[in-house]
Amino acid sequence: MVAQRSPKPLVWVRILASPPMAILDIKKYNDPILRARCEEVKEIDENIKKIIYDMEEMMIKNNGVGLAANQVGIKKRIIVVFDLDNSKTISLINPKILKKSREKEIGEEGCLSFPDVFLNIKRSRNVKIEGINIKGEKIIINAEGFLARVFQHEIDHINGILFFDRLPFLERIKFMFKKWP
Ligand code: ZN
Repeated sequence: MVAQRSPKPLVWVRILASPPMAILDIKKYNDPILRARCEEVKEIDENIKKIIYDMEEMMIKNNGVGLAANQVGIKKRIIVVFDLDNSKTISLINPKILKKSREKEIGEEGCLSFPDVFLNIKRSRNVKIEGINIKGEKIIINAEGFLARVFQHEIDHINGILFFDRLPFLERIKFMFKKWP
């Protein structure tokens, strides 16, 4: 996910300290992998760790605040999120929403797979997320506001759901017939 109005993450800090750039490209627009339901990760091996490090790198490099594995062509249930309040990356394997608040709010979202498209999307204000970190530990995160929004956007991705699918019907139909570049 991209946040147009949020402050830029500390990209320059990361670039100075970063290993050689990963060779992943971001899948865009009508790429069918964006509609794929991603597969559970069964074992966290070196390949999975490499995917996670590469995704973190890609997200930061592109000024994103979230990225899902299918956005870089990998059909696995992995997401990386940048927590702007704490300036840290949260990477989750097999993430699940355990609970979401009935209270919703509308906020602006962009997506690395749809450059320059920014939409106001209604999402739950609070979510409780469960996932596995890179060390294989189960973690629970209670997120609210913007961070909760990013988690919902990214978990939608690994289920093949895109942000404009969450628009009210009349706004959504524009996207059904839209000709992407
Ligand atoms: Zn996105």
